[in-house]
Amino acid sequence: MPEAPKTEIPEEHQTALRFIEDVTQNTDLVQHRVLKEILTQNASTEYMQRHGLSACGTPNLDSFKKLMPIVSYEDIQPDILRIAHGDTSPILSGRPISEFLTSSGTSGGERKLMPTIDDELDRRTHLYSLLMPVMNLYVPGLNKGKGMYLYFVKSESKTPSGLVARPVLTSYYKSRHFRNRPFDAYNNLTSPDEAILCPDSYQSMYAQLLCGLICRSEVLRVGAVFASGFIRAIKFLEKTWPSLCQDIRNGVMNEKITDKSVREAVARVLHPNPDEAKLIEFECSKGSWQGIIRRLWPNTKYIDVIVTGTMAQYIPTLEFYGGRLPLTCTMYASSECYFGLNLHPMCKPSEVAYTLIPTMGYFEFLPVKGGVPNGKSEFDHHDLVDLVDVKLGQEYELVVTTYSGLYRYRVGDVLRVAGFHNKAPQFNFVRRKNVALSIDSDKTDEFELHNAVQHAVHNLEPFGACLVEYTSYADATTIPGHYVLFWELQINKTTPVPPSVFEDCCLAVEECLNSVYRQGRSCDKSIGPLEIRIVEEGTFDKLMDYALSQGASINQYKAPRCVRPGPIVELLNSRVQSKYFSPKSPKWAPGHKKWSKENGAV
Ligand code: AMP
Repeated sequence: MPEAPKTEIPEEHQTALRFIEDVTQNTDLVQHRVLKEILTQNASTEYMQRHGLSACGTPNLDSFKKLMPIVSYEDIQPDILRIAHGDTSPILSGRPISEFLTSSGTSGGERKLMPTIDDELDRRTHLYSLLMPVMNLYVPGLNKGKGMYLYFVKSESKTPSGLVARPVLTSYYKSRHFRNRPFDAYNNLTSPDEAILCPDSYQSMYAQLLCGLICRSEVLRVGAVFASGFIRAIKFLEKTWPSLCQDIRNGVMNEKITDKSVREAVARVLHPNPDEAKLIEFECSKGSWQGIIRRLWPNTKYIDVIVTGTMAQYIPTLEFYGGRLPLTCTMYASSECYFGLNLHPMCKPSEVAYTLIPTMGYFEFLPVKGGVPNGKSEFDHHDLVDLVDVKLGQEYELVVTTYSGLYRYRVGDVLRVAGFHNKAPQFNFVRRKNVALSIDSDKTDEFELHNAVQHAVHNLEPFGACLVEYTSYADATTIPGHYVLFWELQINKTTPVPPSVFEDCCLAVEECLNSVYRQGRSCDKSIGPLEIRIVEEGTFDKLMDYALSQGASINQYKAPRCVRPGPIVELLNSRVQSKYFSPKSPKWAPGHKKWSKENGAV
């Protein structure tokens, strides 16, 4: 980290920076201590005993290394479901389970459930508290203004045992750690908590944008968690600016916003300001929205959104709206565990590297070669490498052991070692395993897509049509983005397939996709209607010719089930005969399908 004059760094920031230095200099010792604490805290658990760890009192680290298996969600799902159904014995964690965090990763089409404990909120809050001390080293003076951050809560459900199940960010925003936070000039947000916590996403977004516009000259940074969410906000602004300007002109909020606490919170900052309304109108009504962020929030220094991983597809759109404002990725986290932060937040998106903070959990790594762990299909814990032993340039799959009671759990992320800060490695986020399509937080794999397509094509049977080949891609150029399927059909020319049947096919695919996808479509509106593009006969032969011309082997060639924007998509698009969109949103309800059926829980 760069040296800044000590006087410019507030005391709390110095403490945070000293902490980062300390834990990255003593990474091995800290990791050793963390593992010891986790094993001691959870020594009484059934899981540890099942694996022979606490047979003779407090488990020791050597037996953990020797005996604890590497697991995926499906391996521990039976234990998790016991907790969800009310078994309060110490199964995974020695501490009481406080709630379930619902991951955007799915299993069997439903969100994965991560049991968590109260203490984890302290750890997450601590990681958040490190972000501004680091940022202040690169962009000083952020305490002189505000941050316009668009944050949202999502719906929650209850497990049959009565424990709340909700996304980790919803859990955090609703916690006392967020709501009762002391004033901090470096984290002065334009959005009132009431707007962030409003369960109606339309009212929440409206109020947050209104407040962001009201104090636009004070705004020094803007952001959201993921790039897709920030772009959605710009699109919302494109639709609602006349109404927002009217509110600012008159000093009264549109009556569509009915949430009382939101109205009261906004009323505290909303006063008639016809001059401001005129200036905003002037910018918004210009033909192009290029650089709109800089134009509306002229003192903004950067856009704080995650643009690593699949979110990289949104970089061109953000550059367009942001007028090339720097994009900063500050942290890397998940429902299982918050991992770390970017110690060089003003670097280019392609250079972002996250430093895992060794106090957050115990981190191990499976080397990945040729796309699979260690290049072999069978692997075990002997293959695991400790945090301090990873090698520069090598790719690894992240495996975590947490205070909440996950042991050697495969998160599903592949990371590459980009460098070191002291002894702590810094990782590029390479990819999430098995994700074919993603627009927002949805993660659809090939298997799931294939099943959905197989199911949908039944609609074509009465017309004597059948699917010859298909592929898919995530179209991030529309807002919101949407899934596109290219279908090549063999058709019976005497019974043409009516357009409504293709539309039914679009909806049938969507109905079969996972709950995170369907929630994004139906509830959050963060994903647009799925599209099927029918391509001319022979298109997939052309695709094969193209692949062979690029060096693919004819014996091994298989049509890809998913393609990325580029020459292949261009080839496919050049042979499209007709396009169809899903006519309505697929069904979605909060909570697991099983709970709502068996227990009437929502
Ligand atoms: P969830 O389980 O829904 O909390 O999602 C966590 C996952 O989101 C991680 O395992 C990553 O795959 C992804 N993710 C989180 N932070 C980042 C980041 N900074 N860059 C890329 N992907 C991220």
